[in-house]
Amino acid sequence: MINVNSSAEIYNVILSMRFVDLSHTITDQTITYKGLPAPIICDYLSRKESESHYDHGTTFQIGSIEMVGNTGTYLDAPFHRYEDGKDLSELFLSDVAELNGVCIRVPDHVRKIDQHYFHNRDLKNKAVIVHTGWSKHWNKDAYFEGHPFLTRDAAQYLLEQGVKLVGIDSHNIDNTADGSRPVHSTLLGANILIVEHLCQLHLVPDEDFFFSAVPVKVKGMGTMPVRAYAKFEVKHATGNKK
Ligand SMILES: [Zn+2]
Repeated sequence: MINVNSSAEIYNVILSMRFVDLSHTITDQTITYKGLPAPIICDYLSRKESESHYDHGTTFQIGSIEMVGNTGTYLDAPFHRYEDGKDLSELFLSDVAELNGVCIRVPDHVRKIDQHYFHNRDLKNKAVIVHTGWSKHWNKDAYFEGHPFLTRDAAQYLLEQGVKLVGIDSHNIDNTADGSRPVHSTLLGANILIVEHLCQLHLVPDEDFFFSAVPVKVKGMGTMPVRAYAKFEVKHATGNKK
């Protein structure tokens, strides 16, 4: 006999947490921003040199990296734009970790992302992540020219909505042809953090995820690479109708 009462069907539902890495890998070839240098990555203490310090067969490497703060996927703190703004060391973990996220999808051909893309979404206290698809050009010349950016009115709208952070998978959140950098100026002036050069945003849900982008705690710097990631719950139904 077939049981047609669906409420009597039993599924095993497994909840698990999924992590999506939203950061580019940094190498000694990585040019993140045209005109800024790639990092210099080398051994400070090589394994070979370390042999004499330890027991036979025990070695360590101590690496050294020289880079500008604007390398890879990085966070902008207010100090990047404003001399009296918060620097990296003054950020709270609650500013950069486990923020409630919302992902805004922007069609491929759109360069100027104005406020209407953000309408009718609950943005208050959220990390607003803008998915443009531009990260497909990463490590190519095309990455530096003609990138999508937010308009001044979009920045103003996000400020009015009370967002905590704005992220984007593009070369710059601002139009680089506008020397007043209205989006950086508006957001960082209101202590709203910025993350640029994100990637893999197609793997992030539209909402109901946590966004983290935690930089190291350095005094006197306003930009720094982050390991940005999204975290969200996924439900697996394992079948087993009974
Ligand atoms: Zn920036």
